[in-house]
Amino acid sequence: MAFEEAKNLGKIKLIPKEAKTGKVNSRFAEDVINRGSIFFPRKDMETLKACMQCGVCVGGCPSGRRTAWRIRRIFLKVLRGFEDDALKDESLWECTTCYTCQERCLRKVMTTDIVRILRNLAVEKGYMNENHVRVCMLLFKYGHAVPINEKIKTVRKELGLDEIPPTVHKYPEALNEVSLLVKETGFRLKVERS
Ligand code: SF4
Ligand code: SF4
Repeated sequence: MAFEEAKNLGKIKLIPKEAKTGKVNSRFAEDVINRGSIFFPRKDMETLKACMQCGVCVGGCPSGRRTAWRIRRIFLKVLRGFEDDALKDESLWECTTCYTCQERCLRKVMTTDIVRILRNLAVEKGYMNENHVRVCMLLFKYGHAVPINEKIKTVRKELGLDEIPPTVHKYPEALNEVSLLVKETGFRLKVERS
């Protein structure tokens, strides 16, 4: 289905109830495709336009069974140009990237890969899940998203491993390299802006 057709389809009856702002970026789907094409083949990203809103993706989504996450709705927002609503949608972070939907989509939409691109764009705009920000802060401070604690040390010992793994924990001077990497790539700035 062409982009224009998808937009018209949405105009008739599929207006997302979350689209409260009324702000529309009619080029948003193209923006997503352009960004995704940096990392994936362009033809894969173009599959976004083929979404026919059938909901098969939602039907098999393990996250959707437990959370408010509905991948079909996020694609509708994107196709309709509701950029802010799509990128600010906190449920965007509930996808586990298990790829079930991507395997099942009848239109072969590269669903999960597109979600990853949407998250990428969301972070760029400063919309990041609070828990993820917290994890990033741990990475900046300790060089690990999950710093070691006494319980893990004990388990490691019981397994016959060194109490401290051969990572930044053992070589604290390597934290300088982690700090440099997150600074030079602009990652730290993005997280701190969120
Ligand atoms: S299964 Fe594919 S075509 Fe159907 S709503 Fe999901 S992404 Fe769109
Ligand atoms: S990849 Fe995400 S949206 Fe797709 S089925 Fe898995 S959790 Fe659901």
